[in-house]
Amino acid sequence: MYEAVIGLEIHAQVKTRTKLFCANLNDPEERHPNVHVCPICMGHPGTLPVLNKKAVESVIMAGIALGCTIAKHSKFDRKNYFYPDLPKGYQISQYDMPLCEKGHIRVGEKNIGITRIHLEEDAGRLAHDAQGASLVDFNRAGMPLMELVTEPDIRTADEAVEFARKLQMILQYCGVSDANMEKGQMRCEVNISIRKPGEEYGTKVEIKNLNSFAVVRSAIEYEIKRQAVVLGEGKKVVQETRGWDEKKQATISQRLKEQAHDYRYFPEPDLPTLTIGKDDGSTGDGGIDLEKIRASLPELPEQKAQRFQTEFGISEKDVGVIIAQKEAAAFFEHTVSEIMEWLKESSHDSEEDQKKCIKIAVNYFNTDVRKLLNETGTPITEMLLTAENFAELIVSMHQGTVTSTIAKVVLEEMFRTGKDPSNIIEEKGLGGVQDAGELEAMAKEIIAANEKAVADYKNGNQNALQFLFGKLMAQSKGKADPKAGRELFIKLLK
Ligand code: ADP
Ligand code: MG
Repeated sequence: MYEAVIGLEIHAQVKTRTKLFCANLNDPEERHPNVHVCPICMGHPGTLPVLNKKAVESVIMAGIALGCTIAKHSKFDRKNYFYPDLPKGYQISQYDMPLCEKGHIRVGEKNIGITRIHLEEDAGRLAHDAQGASLVDFNRAGMPLMELVTEPDIRTADEAVEFARKLQMILQYCGVSDANMEKGQMRCEVNISIRKPGEEYGTKVEIKNLNSFAVVRSAIEYEIKRQAVVLGEGKKVVQETRGWDEKKQATISQRLKEQAHDYRYFPEPDLPTLTIGKDDGSTGDGGIDLEKIRASLPELPEQKAQRFQTEFGISEKDVGVIIAQKEAAAFFEHTVSEIMEWLKESSHDSEEDQKKCIKIAVNYFNTDVRKLLNETGTPITEMLLTAENFAELIVSMHQGTVTSTIAKVVLEEMFRTGKDPSNIIEEKGLGGVQDAGELEAMAKEIIAANEKAVADYKNGNQNALQFLFGKLMAQSKGKADPKAGRELFIKLLK
């Protein structure tokens, strides 16, 4: 049986206002070709690059989040090659002095080592039309790109995907990259070889341009089988670059692997060596202040997950769903603080009330709200449902003034219109049994049937009132007006 040895090379577009070496906009959403271009990113002779400080700071922030050592000195190098989307004939990248080295991401029970993270410029984009002509769009040329390389510590497709997912989340939480794979903002390359356990590493193959987690998984699984067949026939695996063919569901050979010396790397003469921070903690000559970046590091997904579990008592599984998206986690946290406000106002804010409300919130958020988001294809950032309104609905459910049947109707309407729950309940006639006499008759029946609760209430137990009122809500199918219903019992039990 063979074991796979896998290392990843992951590129992510760095979020900055402008490109890496010039003042053109870094706008990945631009639809018109060749708008954000200038003599610098088109590589005209005599132009000089000016380094974007924000891009450097962003990569350093990613490095800190990933436990890397940040270089005191770093420099840029020219990587020379010819390709129609590379106007200068070389790419400004980093060769032997990357910004960050030696980090890791925890995957399952082990740490997957990060060899390095460096900053480089992206190339343009080729498009091929129906007549067989090729077109070049240089909007992307010169956009900042971070490249992260892992150690060959990964052994399975699962580990590779989990690593990539965790990295994606960390970059998104840090605001370094939107890292949307569908939009090409994050791209994965897989290096893979197989061996018998305990043997030396085998010859690796590089699989390029994998643009979804599913494809990363399929390519690895396919390649493990292919290499096993090659070795099984007594042949050798050829070191090469392969691509993923979606139709064939197979990796296909593209070209023999180039070596570092093929690129004739040499130091970029037009950019000075970068000094990052000073030994005394002050700012380096590039104006890069390490301490400031460290201090601005936001809470990372794993820390947030821990906190949600201990502070809010949410299970690990539920937390996993909530924190998978930074905006979802923020919405949820906002909801919890609004719930606390509502509870305080209602003077029923024991720890038990809080825990119960949070539990309802988790259930509705991870099922009903998510379902609405998916069905309508709404990004959570554009959702009309507000945390305030969501919290109000949750607390009403907890207090028994809104039944779960009505809550579902109200939630859908809140999601569709952004209105608050009390408005919707009034408009749709979901609250308030209109006939006061009918309501009073119901309440009297309930009082007669629940002697113990009545006695408890008369002995000062407020929860007993809540209990009786809950019965009224149930009997009126959630339509009793919360305020009137409660007052009714107080009146009848005087
Ligand atoms: P190259 O010089 O061919 O680019 P590197 O040493 O820079 O190779 O490694 C590139 C990537 O390949 C890294 O992610 C590394 O972890 C991975 N890698 C290195 N050796 C192997 C191997 N034998 N099998 C699988 N992956 C490997
Ligand atoms: Mg390499």
